[in-house]
Amino acid sequence: MADDIFDLIIKGEIPCYKVYEDDDVIAFLDISQVTPGHTLLVPKAHVNDIFDYDEQIAEKVLLKLPKLARAIKASNPQITGINIQSNNGPSAGQTVIHSHWHLIPRFDDDNLNSQLAPTIDHSADFTPERYQAIAQQIATSIKEV
Ligand code: AMP
Repeated sequence: MADDIFDLIIKGEIPCYKVYEDDDVIAFLDISQVTPGHTLLVPKAHVNDIFDYDEQIAEKVLLKLPKLARAIKASNPQITGINIQSNNGPSAGQTVIHSHWHLIPRFDDDNLNSQLAPTIDHSADFTPERYQAIAQQIATSIKEV
């Protein structure tokens, strides 16, 4: 499979603004800088998306999130919060098909609206039966994946 842009960054063949690296992950500034300090945490193993993670990769990658989040927050006293987001699949907005986790610092005055849960509420469309059917389908799938 051809290298994607994050493979090339991992190999050092294209530059990045690196903030952390170990045997399993690399973290560097997202070029778009949604807010100053916007960082990507990327597994060195080529996994396309969250659906590809086994438990070992998940442990190696996801355990880095709290430390990286604390470091980003500590780097700037104006950072008062952080959004952590991973887009998985083109329908979810994934554009680089190599799993990555966005850490987006939040500032009291950043005027961003990324609080999906409070701003989108479809609860009026859901009966108790519909909630229960969806929960049951997912609960059943957990035993199969
Ligand atoms: P996503 O849309 O969730 O797949 O995010 C891909 C992200 O990769 C975008 O936010 C891009 O700004 C970022 N990106 C693409 N190329 C580079 C690069 N060479 N260095 C840093 N960030 C990049």
